Amino acid sequence: RVQVNPFLGEQDQIRPRGAVIVGYDVTELRRLEQVRTDFVGNVSHELRTPLTSIKGFVETLLDGAADDPALRERFLTIIQRETLRLQRLIDDLLTLSRIENRRTDLVVSSSRVQVAYEKIKPVISSYAKAKELELVVELPSDLPAVAMGPDLLSQVLLNLLENAVKYTTTGKIELSASQKDSVVYLEFKDTGCGIPEQDLPRIFERFYRVDKARSREQGGTGLGLSIVKHIVEGSNGKIGITSRLGLGSVFTCELPVAEQGELYEKEK
Ligand code: ADP
Repeated sequence: RVQVNPFLGEQDQIRPRGAVIVGYDVTELRRLEQVRTDFVGNVSHELRTPLTSIKGFVETLLDGAADDPALRERFLTIIQRETLRLQRLIDDLLTLSRIENRRTDLVVSSSRVQVAYEKIKPVISSYAKAKELELVVELPSDLPAVAMGPDLLSQVLLNLLENAVKYTTTGKIELSASQKDSVVYLEFKDTGCGIPEQDLPRIFERFYRVDKARSREQGGTGLGLSIVKHIVEGSNGKIGITSRLGLGSVFTCELPVAEQGELYEKEK
């Protein structure tokens, strides 16, 4: 736009000599917007499914099914299972949002793998025992602390070991650890159903499941691995997977060793 200066003649008017074109590549923005929309859609769907089921069974009970003891027992069991599913889903969503909002705080403390494992050991061992799976945990006693808060480290161990048990019907679950220079390597190995190669790149996405029915049946929320990825990468670590269909999976975590003096108070 030319701004006409009334005090200058036609010759002396200041005219633009060029133009600046500002362009934004909105591809990434659009993608993020799409991810967000999909997420909200997924959450709504995941919440609605158990709610619809609870509502239906409560109505049927009120309509008279409650008079039949066998039906009452069956429907109440379903209602209980669906309520637990809702609770797990909400817990996972809250964990995910807490982690996302506190990204920068993730590396401020440190913890030991052995201590984090002790915290979840009762849950995992009883879960493995119930499915008659062998659980082998080998953590060297001189393993250094890693740069991650103790609750987050326990959450990583819990999610990966729970999955290992969940998707294994016979055989063994192994957790081992080693150190090289400033990195602690964790390996979670199972003899479970494995993951098809084409699903591997998407396995850490929220709500992505290879077999939806199987995950549901096992009480899965579809959020466990995305929580693990967030925690590990937010703590400057790396997560990896190799898997063979029908033979089993190996999840690996590379976690930075904590700097001296970073040890979390509770674990000194
Ligand atoms: P879910 O709650 O469904 O287990 P996750 O985010 O923890 O959700 O895992 C995503 C999907 O990855 C699972 O539904 C399952 O298909 C697959 N998966 C995760 N861990 C394993 C494993 N150890 N063995 C086989 N499949 C697995």
